[in-house]
Parts: sequence; structure tokens; C-alpha cells
Amino acid sequence: VQDITGRKRLEAELRELATTDPLTALPNRRHFLAQLDAELERLRRHPHHRVALLMMDLDHFKRVNDLHGHTTGDAVLRQFAELLRDESRRLDTAARVGGEEFAVLLPEADLSAAEAIGERVRRKAMDPVHIEGQPAISVTVSIGIVDSDGTVPIETLIARADSALYQAKNKGRNQWSY
Ligand code: GH3
Ligand code: MG
Ligand code: MG
Repeated sequence: VQDITGRKRLEAELRELATTDPLTALPNRRHFLAQLDAELERLRRHPHHRVALLMMDLDHFKRVNDLHGHTTGDAVLRQFAELLRDESRRLDTAARVGGEEFAVLLPEADLSAAEAIGERVRRKAMDPVHIEGQPAISVTVSIGIVDSDGTVPIETLIARADSALYQAKNKGRNQWSY
């Protein structure tokens, strides 16, 4: 009996390692893409439904590390992850998809709903982060927003989200774009 319990626990731990980002405890990139893929598949069976996506990249994050150190940078990333968890609805998936890159999958959201969430995230990202022994740090985020009825391939949707994010960066950062 103990053998089986031990193996079950090990399996659960391995599953967690494969799907979770250790720094922030958010779902990782692989898990996010799997969720998005499943959602697009679901939409193919439910025409007229939509999904929206926020693609986010913290602005000038290299500076945060250079000015305050990597450990503080990590704390800022964890704080941003916390903010995403707070702003997500139960059915959303907020994930860390890269170093200082995050994404939120918003099932059943159209562009205007996604916009509202994006704007709240953008505003709250600027809240100062207090870390012991450090001056308060404030960051900004750029956000690309897309939505889809599920008729485009996953790669196309991601590419659109990336290019919307690129636009937000180019227009001056600390903003969302689509
Ligand atoms: P931009 O506004 O164009 O996005 O500028 P940026 O400095 O954020 O962009 P860039 O891609 O040049 O740098 C990303 C930085 O994020 C570089 C890297 O040191 C930092 N970074 C990535 N992953 C981590 C991490 O896990 N912890 C910390 N502390 N920093 C990280
Ligand atoms: Mg980046
Ligand atoms: Mg960046």
C-alpha cells in the first residue's frame, strides 16, 4: 500500500513540475499552450463562442535587474504573478510563458472584456513593490490583445498576439494594443 501511495505522490509531483513555473507557481508555457489548444478545439465544436488572449511583457526589465539585482527582479516577477492571479476569473489561465513574459487565456471573453482586464492589469502593475531593505520599485507592462472564434490555427493566434504586443512596445510601452 505504501509503495502505491509513494508512487502516486511521485507522479503528482512530476505532473506539477511539468506544468508549473517554480518561481511564480503559475502554469508554465507548455501548460498554457495545451490549455489554449484545448480551448480552440472546444470552440470548433461551439461556433459563435470566442476566446481572448493577453500577451504581456514587462517593460525595461533588464534595468530592474541591473539597478536592484536579480533577487529583487525575481520578487517583482512573483508580485506580478500575484496580480495576474487576482485579476483572473475562475475559468481563465494566467501563465508565465517566458522570463518576464506572461499570458492570460480568457475563455468566453470578447475584445472589450479583454481590454477591460488588460487595462486593470496595466494600471495595477505600476503599484510600487516593497521589498525589505530596498527602495520601492515600480514596473510597467506592455500588453497585446487578440480574440478569436477558434477558426485560426494556434500559431496564427499567438503570432497575432505577439505582434499586438510588439505594437504596444513600439508605441511607447505601458499600454495595451490589438
Ligand atoms: P523591453 O521593454 O523591450 O521588454 O525591455 P526588457 O529589458 O524587458 O527586455 P529584454 O528582453 O532585453 O530583457 C528581459 C530581461 O528579463 C532580461 C533578463 O535578465 C530578465 N529576466 C528574464 N527572466 C528572468 C528571471 O527569471 N528573473 C529575473 N530577475 N530576471 C529575468
Ligand atoms: Mg521579454
Ligand atoms: Mg521586457
